[in-house]
Amino acid sequence: MNKFRLRYAPSPTGFLHIGNTRTALMNYLFAKHYDGDFILRIEDTDIERNVNGAIESQFDNMEWLGITPDESFRNPKSNYGKYMQSEKFDVYKEYANKLIEKNMAYKCYCTAEELEKDRELQLAKGILAPQYNRKCLLNKIEDNSKPFNIRFKVPENKIYKINDVVRGNVEFNSKEIGDFVILKSNGIATYNFAVVIDDYDMQITHVVRGEEHISNTPRQCMIYEAFGWKEPTFCHLTLIVDETKKKLSKRSGNAMFFISQYRDQGYLPQAIFNYISLLGWSPNNEQEIFSKEELIKIFDEKRFSKSPSTFDMVKMKWINSQWIKKMSEEDYVKFIISFVDQTKFNLKEKNELWINSVLLLFKKELEYGLQINEHLDIFFDKQLDIKTKETLKEFANLKEMMSFLAKEIENIKDFTEENIKILIKETGNRFEKKGRELFMPVRIYTTLSEHGPELAKTINLIGKEKVLTNINSFK
Ligand code: GLU
Repeated sequence: MNKFRLRYAPSPTGFLHIGNTRTALMNYLFAKHYDGDFILRIEDTDIERNVNGAIESQFDNMEWLGITPDESFRNPKSNYGKYMQSEKFDVYKEYANKLIEKNMAYKCYCTAEELEKDRELQLAKGILAPQYNRKCLLNKIEDNSKPFNIRFKVPENKIYKINDVVRGNVEFNSKEIGDFVILKSNGIATYNFAVVIDDYDMQITHVVRGEEHISNTPRQCMIYEAFGWKEPTFCHLTLIVDETKKKLSKRSGNAMFFISQYRDQGYLPQAIFNYISLLGWSPNNEQEIFSKEELIKIFDEKRFSKSPSTFDMVKMKWINSQWIKKMSEEDYVKFIISFVDQTKFNLKEKNELWINSVLLLFKKELEYGLQINEHLDIFFDKQLDIKTKETLKEFANLKEMMSFLAKEIENIKDFTEENIKILIKETGNRFEKKGRELFMPVRIYTTLSEHGPELAKTINLIGKEKVLTNINSFK
């Protein structure tokens, strides 16, 4: 069996987002599961639509996610041709001329205005999907002083069949398709033509892409047929939709669209990889947390979903929190510290042990990195808010208990977590309070907040002096 070769072929018209990452990732898993090659090719023939920096940014974000190509413009293999379409214009031209020689393509001199006029005429006659009227094929004109497009001569009334990995047998009738341009008058090949030449040159065995490309597939089949080349296996993935069932886009409400946004907010590459692998694909059990290595092992192309998958931000966050939990303490601290807003929480004057202990308090509850900033104010300049004041009203006669607590804290010899725990217990015994009755007022008095991690640990890290100031602020 030939080595599997799959590719992700973005047009650099934008940055890496959930949709194209899913395509890249499924190609990657498919290739790696079968010990094949994963290739990154840049389809940049639509020069006006290319966005500056998009190629580098897509590449870097893919690397960050661990979707590393075996071949790309950065590490090309010479026997497969160029990895950027803009470097292959001559190759496409040569192939287009070959089709002219074989009478399978022809020069079309029609101007945009002529084409538009004819289209309108057809629409007026009630033809819903106007096609090129073949004027230049029928007239057989040849005038190389005029600009021309090269059009492919679509075989008449022919059925093209593919056996799509997701959809099974799909048939297309060539009568639905008019003669299409393969090389524009500016010498640039169109997508449907260049993609076939490239997939052939690169010996691509499987084409995995979004379902929006399925209508292009018959055109590509025709080109394969014209050259007598074997088609790759096609696999058209179903849509990813948002919670309103619309195609996921940058306008989708709850979800962030671009990978860089997740990266900036403190999502882990392993978590994004994990979650995106479950969009339009599923394992054969209920497990939800998978490493890249596990996914490569269990990947099965028969398990692509046949219906759209909904992007679920809650699930994405949950998966990220699971990956944060799985990190070693050392890695976690290194990761999370870079998300601390140091203009609000100045860590410079704090010692490393204190910083690490504070950050580690939240390892089990963070969904993403930036969330750390919602927790740190109790260690800096937290102010009592209205809601907490309201909560405090539930508890009567706190004065005596709290001045006892303050005195005990003041007199404590060794301000350790253990001793603080004992002290809270003693306070509870003395004033016959336990559970919420004890812990909530103590938490509010000592930390000025009704929420927070383990109380004794928190009091210890806030520090004796600040805790006393907090308690005394209630006088
Ligand atoms: N350049 C195309 C895109 O960005 C890829 C099409 C294909 O995979 O064949 O959608």
